[in-house]
Amino acid sequence: MRRKNIVYRYVAMVSAAGLAVLVWAGLHEDFRIPPGTEGRLTLCVFTFFLVLGEFRPIKVSRGEDKEEITTSTTFAFAILLSFGTVVAVVVQAVACLVSEMLLHRTRPGWWKSLFNVGQLTLTLAGSGAVLELLSALGVSRLDPQNLSPPDLGPILAAGITFFIINDVLTGLGLALSLDISPISYLRQDLGFQAWTAAMMLALAPVAVVVAENNLLLVFLLAIPLVGIYRGSHQAVLNEHQALHDSLTGLPNRTLLRDRVHQAILNCQRDECGLAVMIMDLDRFKEINDTLGHHNGDLLLKQIGPRLKACLRQSDGVARLGGDEFAVLLRKLDDNSTATQVAAKIRRSFEQPFELQGLSLNVEPSIGIALYPDHGVDADVLLQRADVAMYIAKENRSGFTTYIAEQDQYSAKRLALAGELRHALDAHRKDELLLYYQPKAELSTGRVIGVETLLRWQHPRHALMPPDDFIPVAEHTGLIRPLTLYAIDAALEQLRRWESVCPDLTVAVNLSVQNLVDRHLQDDVARLLDKWVLAPHRLRLEITESVIMTDTKRSLAALAALHEMGVGLSVDDFGTGHSSLTYLKQLPVSEIKIDKSFIMNMSATSNDAVIVRSTIDLGRNLGMQVVAEGVEDQMTWNQLSLLGCDLVQGHYVSRALSAGDMTQWLVNGGLTVGPSRLPPRPAVGPLWLDP
Ligand code: C2E
Ligand code: CA
Ligand code: CA
Repeated sequence: MRRKNIVYRYVAMVSAAGLAVLVWAGLHEDFRIPPGTEGRLTLCVFTFFLVLGEFRPIKVSRGEDKEEITTSTTFAFAILLSFGTVVAVVVQAVACLVSEMLLHRTRPGWWKSLFNVGQLTLTLAGSGAVLELLSALGVSRLDPQNLSPPDLGPILAAGITFFIINDVLTGLGLALSLDISPISYLRQDLGFQAWTAAMMLALAPVAVVVAENNLLLVFLLAIPLVGIYRGSHQAVLNEHQALHDSLTGLPNRTLLRDRVHQAILNCQRDECGLAVMIMDLDRFKEINDTLGHHNGDLLLKQIGPRLKACLRQSDGVARLGGDEFAVLLRKLDDNSTATQVAAKIRRSFEQPFELQGLSLNVEPSIGIALYPDHGVDADVLLQRADVAMYIAKENRSGFTTYIAEQDQYSAKRLALAGELRHALDAHRKDELLLYYQPKAELSTGRVIGVETLLRWQHPRHALMPPDDFIPVAEHTGLIRPLTLYAIDAALEQLRRWESVCPDLTVAVNLSVQNLVDRHLQDDVARLLDKWVLAPHRLRLEITESVIMTDTKRSLAALAALHEMGVGLSVDDFGTGHSSLTYLKQLPVSEIKIDKSFIMNMSATSNDAVIVRSTIDLGRNLGMQVVAEGVEDQMTWNQLSLLGCDLVQGHYVSRALSAGDMTQWLVNGGLTVGPSRLPPRPAVGPLWLDP
């Protein structure tokens, strides 16, 4: 608001000063128009070109902004030289007003028109005053009918004055309205500005001399002017292309960097803060893959306007590539404003995007980096906003402000994601190992199934547990191929065990992304077909939190899998927040009580109560109950008394590699129990494996 007031005040001042000069000119009697028709004709021709120039301004860039230079400059200056200040300001003002009225009739830009008239009047008046002054000092009295070499000095002085007043008045106005430092703004591309103005102004005395000799020849001057016009037009176009994204028309990374840099300079001057946000769309790849690139592009085009609606006019939006966008919040008085804006952006994305009759929801993950807290350099801020964005994505928190401690952590995770992608390549799948942990019947000690647990034999690290890489896979889109790989390899292994234990089931863990993947059901069916196994031989384990994340879609996916005959288990039961009513709706046949309750059962009576009631609950709902994390005989016995169905845990066996598991099964592991513990697996030639 303060800034707007300053801009309006400035515009009013310039307009009023220009108007005062115009009034003075109107009252002036010294209209230096020669009485002859020749002079009048010259004035008409110059005016014609002046008006033409007003209608076809040349756009030149100044940094990221466009300023207009008109070929009318040449003829306004020529009129000034030939007919004096009064005529020049009046003709220029009328031409400017008429063109503004006709060109901008759709926009209520009257105050801009007034400003333009005002500043051009002041420019011409200032330039004319220099000529008068030099003539009064006796340096040279300009005779337009007979320009001679000594006149060049005063013309040069008047031209320089013209450029300076014009440049300062418009530059100051633009700098104020864009809220950037006027000095640094005026310095931008000063050389280019000066040259363009010099070209325009230098043609003015030429026009005067040519008109004196033969008025028709003035029309030849139009040719170099058209040349300048076209050249600048192309230059502006090229520059625009180099600095903008062709799909959305938004600034690209290069321009964003410049803007951030410029904004930092302004903040240093004004002692304020700024924020850089990087935003990435969750699940955009899915949209692109399923609806095609054309629809993906249509969606991307709608992001810019959606973002801008959440921002002030002085803030900026850019597209960094793919589905990554950036926002620059200039001049923050308070760091909390950035999080408020991020929350506002998130809220605005709740409204679905409409694409050719489709209504699509996309969620953005936003990372925020603040100047000066997180960096004083554009590149550092952008990189830190990127880190924060990845953390927001991983945490599914929507938006996160950069925290230095997380930086190294997330850099490592990013590297890991790249390596995991490599490992998933067909050639390196031997890095991703499947371990198996048996599940036994409490009443008989019979092993009825195994759970598949992934390990990563990373080339540079020790054998990596799933908790270290599954979350990375989940947040980088790698979980889908990873899960399919696990199902495929587990079924293949089950086939191999067919001769040893024909009824064994194999369980694979699912992540939330798997349940919202609409191809899951087909993929599972295809893999069962591939290994010629009945669907009930496969179990899929889903944690409560996974089901609760996207209930509608998850329920549909679970129903489809159940329909196929695949067994479903609720994993880590007790740690989530699923309600009883909810559990009743699920087509699951097994509950796995989380190991934290089982392991504390003997020590904590509360946990024992939870285990007891869960077993009752499962029985009442007609589900099998598995106790996970059974580590000793006492727990086994306790569970046996409580009527639990199945156990899994170190007491039966740790998770073993395929080879070790094979040997364990063959060596008598098929029946386990307190009275008959299986022998420790010996590592030797794994004869059941190829
Ligand atoms: P989970 O599904 O709850 O798997 C059981 C975890 O408990 C396994 O850890 C297992 O080694 C461990 N465990 C089993 N018995 C005992 C015991 O008696 N005492 C103790 N202290 N621990 C026991 P692991 O292999 O580190 O797996 C951790 C988690 O990683 C799994 O928890 C599962 O949620 C996830 N995970 C493993 N493989 C996959 C996979 O292929 N896909 C997905 N989405 N998640 C997986
Ligand atoms: Ca599990
Ligand atoms: Ca579990």
